[in-house]
Amino acid sequence: MKTRSEPNRRRVQGRPRKRFGQHFLEPAWVAKVIDAIATAPGDTFLEIGPGRGALTAALGPRVRQVVAVEIDRDLAVALPGRVGPNVRVVTGDLLDVDLDALVRDEPLPIRVAGNLPYNVSSPILFRLLQAADQGRRFRDATLMLQQEVAERLAAAPGTAGYGALAIQVRLLADIDRLLTLPPGAFRPPPKVTSTLVRLRFHPPAADVGDSAAFERVVRGLFQQRRKTLLNALRPVAAGFGCSAEEALDRARLDPTRRPETLTVEDMARLTRAVL
Ligand code: SAM
Repeated sequence: MKTRSEPNRRRVQGRPRKRFGQHFLEPAWVAKVIDAIATAPGDTFLEIGPGRGALTAALGPRVRQVVAVEIDRDLAVALPGRVGPNVRVVTGDLLDVDLDALVRDEPLPIRVAGNLPYNVSSPILFRLLQAADQGRRFRDATLMLQQEVAERLAAAPGTAGYGALAIQVRLLADIDRLLTLPPGAFRPPPKVTSTLVRLRFHPPAADVGDSAAFERVVRGLFQQRRKTLLNALRPVAAGFGCSAEEALDRARLDPTRRPETLTVEDMARLTRAVL
């Protein structure tokens, strides 16, 4: 009997598309990831990037409903044949889809899972943080990330990885690192090690006054993380029409500190002080 050669098999499944960050989870790792997600029969999941359905096919039988959003039309079309009837496949870009419409008929809060495309993992994270609605729409998100990004999310103030991403995440979610996966856990293997993390969404950990202003302050300060707080704040404060000295005084912050040592609460106080 003729066996199907590797190139033929690849053609039948379609070549992995680099531009969509496609690295498919190997079967040997599926159970470990599913265990880490810790499903319950009543759960509803939004899955980001189901791909060929490695996680989707395992999630479906364990939960009430899966809504799976896949950008690659070819994969999305093939998916219903690989998964059960309680999986609704939506073709689209997670960064563009109307999330309200997507989950309108689902009991909230729902849970999120995804082996994320690493090229757009940060924008997807920001989208989820905004859309989680303090845990009312999304309860939690179990996400596969590049290890380095996972470390930045969980970094403590004053350490090298600490930055805008860690602050934004900490404001709206708690984060746990669940699993570390070597490049060989995926096909084709990525160049990097991966980490599965869980974000548990919650109401803001601090009163930031205005979330757009908070983002401007955080980003502005981290662009100059090694300067003193006073010097880093000058251009940011000017943008709000106030003086950096006065804002620091109002926020009771030492002007000689470095921006990279500020906690979420410090950043929130500083934002309220420039408003
Ligand atoms: N979940 C599958 C697995 O574990 O084998 C595939 C994971 S692969 C790393 C990322 C998946 O996300 C791919 O199927 C890719 O086409 C899809 N994807 C990439 N960008 C996307 C986006 N913006 N919105 C939705 N899906 C996306």
